[in-house]
Amino acid sequence: MPETVSNKIAAGEVVQRPASVVKELVENAIDAGAEHISIVVKGAGSELIQVVDDGCGMSAADAAASFQRHATSKIRSIEDLESIRTLGFRGEALASIAAIAKVRLQSRRSVDEVGTEIIVEGGEPISNAPKPMLPGTTISVRNLFYNVPARRKFLKRPSTELKHIVDVVQVNALANPGIAWTLRSGENELMCVTRGESHDPKEILQTRIKELLSLDSFEPLITVDESTSYLRVFGILGKPELYKRTRGRQFLFVNNRAIKHRYLEHAVYSAYEYLLPEGTFPLFALFLDIDPRHVDVNVHPAKAEVKFEDESGVYSMMRTIVRKALGTAELTPDFLSAVPLSGIKLDLDSSESHESGKGSKGLRLAETGLTGFAHEPHSNPWLEAGSASKRLYDSGPGGAMSSGTVESRGDETRETESSDLLWQLHDAYVLTQIRSGLVIVDQQAAHERILYEKATISLADGFGLSQQLLFPITIEYPPGDFVLLEELMPDLRSLGFDIEPFGGRSVVMRGVPADIRAGDERQILDAVLDQYKSFESVDKLTGRENLARSIARKSSVKAGARLSHKEMRALIDQLFLCEMPYVSPDGRPTIVKLSVDELRERFGRRG
Ligand code: ADP
Ligand code: MG
Repeated sequence: MPETVSNKIAAGEVVQRPASVVKELVENAIDAGAEHISIVVKGAGSELIQVVDDGCGMSAADAAASFQRHATSKIRSIEDLESIRTLGFRGEALASIAAIAKVRLQSRRSVDEVGTEIIVEGGEPISNAPKPMLPGTTISVRNLFYNVPARRKFLKRPSTELKHIVDVVQVNALANPGIAWTLRSGENELMCVTRGESHDPKEILQTRIKELLSLDSFEPLITVDESTSYLRVFGILGKPELYKRTRGRQFLFVNNRAIKHRYLEHAVYSAYEYLLPEGTFPLFALFLDIDPRHVDVNVHPAKAEVKFEDESGVYSMMRTIVRKALGTAELTPDFLSAVPLSGIKLDLDSSESHESGKGSKGLRLAETGLTGFAHEPHSNPWLEAGSASKRLYDSGPGGAMSSGTVESRGDETRETESSDLLWQLHDAYVLTQIRSGLVIVDQQAAHERILYEKATISLADGFGLSQQLLFPITIEYPPGDFVLLEELMPDLRSLGFDIEPFGGRSVVMRGVPADIRAGDERQILDAVLDQYKSFESVDKLTGRENLARSIARKSSVKAGARLSHKEMRALIDQLFLCEMPYVSPDGRPTIVKLSVDELRERFGRRG
């Protein structure tokens, strides 16, 4: 088969549309170390795509070779394939593009006096000559698909093709904030962003996002930078109020390569769950750094898809990290749509004064009071009574906060009292009134959330509340289990298990975490051990996360348990002291809100 034909076939894989050409050329410019990249398109890329960079350039020989298929300067050995860090690696982009368009390449290295200009049409070299120019590379692609009419017909409307081009440039501009970018379509400048100059990568990225998306300020952006031994997640989350009803502002990168990964996107969406109105999408730009050996980027010629060795591990780390970041950010109250907006969470004093709930069904909600949470009040902006109530009532249009400041403060007190109206439905749901309507709390999900956060804090601090057992329990374990248990012991102690080896393969348990029901101690320890066994701990973050989850799941009050008024009260108070009250540790909602407006509508009372 003549090379021009095979190049044309390969071109079908690499070049689906003008945006594919932009992508390949831009990636080459990035790989070449450019500091400035400017792109000009005409006719939405069908007439002209020109990319100018000030990167390393090519020698005359390399320039000629660059149109050969599988001519890449970026892979020298099979091992390189394992750890691809540059963007291009197949060495077929230029050859493919040249097979289906008229291409002019101009390139000069800074060490050379003069550059080279090569013209290739439909894969056939037309000319090759020296060219005086500044160092760098300029590639112009004209009349794309001129010799593949079938392809040409498949192109969408120019506006659609242009949108794809903008998306490609945008993604690359996000991933490379150290590069200045311009994009013009005909006479229109569509994008112009300067080089990030700050020393703080977070600030650089924030600035880039703000410029690219034309935001007014940094205020609605949350920065994330979390590392585990397995991966690092760096980037920006939009606060919930930046939501959109359409997708398009979700950016995921793996080792600085833009990817599409539904599963991973879902991890982020699920972290936002219940913070956003239904059917809306948050803004995010997240960069995962992961050892290239744990991820396969070579699954698709367009290289947009990747496969992780441990997909579910990456999923759960991602979700945990995003949740944590969202949980500690100060969110605007009108977007906490599921939250009772008055009374409850401001009512610190009254919840502290709740008496012990001891005795009834072994549930010790009230007893533990606020101790697990009170030491870190700043982590939840709602809890600083002064500022929280100020924010609640001063800010934001819409919903429960639309009424004027002065009157609202009056309401606040009244609501606090009325929120003592609590009902339990089917021994599973706790109902309470709020100013804007009704809140329904899933008691089990809510309690899991409370215990989970408490366990997480205990694990981090190293001491959880423990209650001594009247009769210490001695348990003998099979050798395998015993070894595991010894490994787990420090974390178990942190959680409040007073436990130690007791000769041979036995352990003695003298105390248990304060939240565990009497009689369940041993079961819970076994369950935790089982969970630990079945879980291949990738690192501490997920290992502990798992421990906290199983404790929460095992010791929470279940649906079917009748709660006293005090217990309901304590449940709700403590739920709203959580960092992330709206979802259970495994992502189910804890709260459903029914607004008076919704009720009105259901009863057909419009207006
Ligand atoms: P790949 O990027 O996969 O190596 P390409 O077909 O995209 O393959 O490019 C072929 C080669 O041409 C590259 O390996 C690189 O050496 C050279 N090249 C292409 N574009 C540029 C550029 N803008 N600046 C410098 N060298 C370039
Ligand atoms: Mg390339």
